[in-house]
Amino acid sequence: MQQALLLNASYEPLKVVHWQKAITLWCQGKVEVIAVHDREVRAVSVTFKLPSVIRLLRFVKIKRRFDYVPFSRANIYARDHHTCQYCNRGFSTADLTFDHVVPVAQGGRKDWENIVTCCVGCNRLKGGRTPAEAGMKLLKPPRRPDSAPAIRITVGLRDAPESWRDYLYWNVELDDT
Ligand SMILES: [Zn+2]
Repeated sequence: MQQALLLNASYEPLKVVHWQKAITLWCQGKVEVIAVHDREVRAVSVTFKLPSVIRLLRFVKIKRRFDYVPFSRANIYARDHHTCQYCNRGFSTADLTFDHVVPVAQGGRKDWENIVTCCVGCNRLKGGRTPAEAGMKLLKPPRRPDSAPAIRITVGLRDAPESWRDYLYWNVELDDT
């Protein structure tokens, strides 16, 4: 049984789907294939590899019903709409990082009220300083979200195919180190 990880257009994992569903979505032009499994299937005259990671071409808004929002990279980025909280520009996940508003060295905590989405450039510029010290301004004070902005996928990382790991680790909660 080969399954595919379905990502939203924003690269956030949505759910795990059977490979036949993955191929149907692809044939319908709804997804692009990001990674494939080694296993091939033959259909009429063509042979192709089973999709392993697929991504929706159009963003879907997800209704969620969680009260508890896990403190994770994915959820911090989702709360901040993948927008750098200093320069107000949108970035893909690969170009984002998170910033301690009050640096750890000055007693800043790793929690919803002190961590914001930040682009790599602004993060470098700010360094180990507070926004005031760096002469930078936050778009808005960071807050704990009321409902879960990102989906949690219950897949043991050990069981997940290698190709899924880049996407799934975003849902691993940040540790407190
Ligand atoms: Zn920035």
